[in-house]
Amino acid sequence: MDIDEGEIGVDTLHLVSRKHHPTDTVVHVGQVLIGGPEKVYIAGPCSVEDQNQIEEIARAIQGSAHILRGGAYKPRTSPYSFQGLGEKGLCFLKDAGDKVGLPVITEVMSENEVDMVASHVDMLQVGARNMQNFALLRKVGAQDKPVLLKRGVAATIEELLLSAEYILAAGNTQVVLCERGIRTFNSTFTRNTLDLSAVPILKHLTHLPVVVDPSHGSGDWNLIEPLSKAALAAGAHGLMIEVHNNPEQALSDGPQSLKPEKYRALVTKLNRLVRCLEEEGK
Ligand code: PEP
Ligand code: MN
Repeated sequence: MDIDEGEIGVDTLHLVSRKHHPTDTVVHVGQVLIGGPEKVYIAGPCSVEDQNQIEEIARAIQGSAHILRGGAYKPRTSPYSFQGLGEKGLCFLKDAGDKVGLPVITEVMSENEVDMVASHVDMLQVGARNMQNFALLRKVGAQDKPVLLKRGVAATIEELLLSAEYILAAGNTQVVLCERGIRTFNSTFTRNTLDLSAVPILKHLTHLPVVVDPSHGSGDWNLIEPLSKAALAAGAHGLMIEVHNNPEQALSDGPQSLKPEKYRALVTKLNRLVRCLEEEGK
């Protein structure tokens, strides 16, 4: 199928389209199902910083979260910011997940590292900055670990779906889409603008599950609770939230990270909200 770039739009979607696959895709991450009837909560620090940090956070979120997150290869705006622990961080993440019985997700930034990163984790994340790294998309599509694809900061909904199309076209149907905020004109109060209208639109256009990341979407831990509630009410299949045991000292994204006790209290409230939404038939 050859498509002229001038014709790109929702009509050019193929494998990701509901027209091609009317029923919802359910993505398996270890024993956890994303896209089924249960909301899925992914939580953990922006970066894995050391073994104790990730273990302490893993123990603190176990029982509230279904999947443990932690970055070991960090796409930082400045080359002088903490870049992540690399493969050592992946080992700490996997060990922490094993100790508490949670599957783990981490970001992969380069197609050259996909096989190595995939050998340590249960799910791969392609970050916002790499949403249109087509070599990376093809490579994660050619392996069998599930992929969380984050929307680029200036990507349209069609572009997000066409990036997912690359992964499916390479053979991997286990893809979850993540709305994580887009760049708009107002950055005084929020780091990005969380585009919650993308959730019902994506669910209409595609069979792939959709989760929301209110942490990068807002940049402010105070906004996580209202945005999480709104995301679930908008129909998100799950949430990815940054949690840190010592946000003031975090090596990345401290200001948007919840302390574990706040995270647990939030999940209790979200579970109540989900029950109300189910009664409404949403
Ligand atoms: C992250 O999840 O820590 C991250 C860097 O996310 P994003 O790609 O959405 O900026
Ligand atoms: Mn982060």
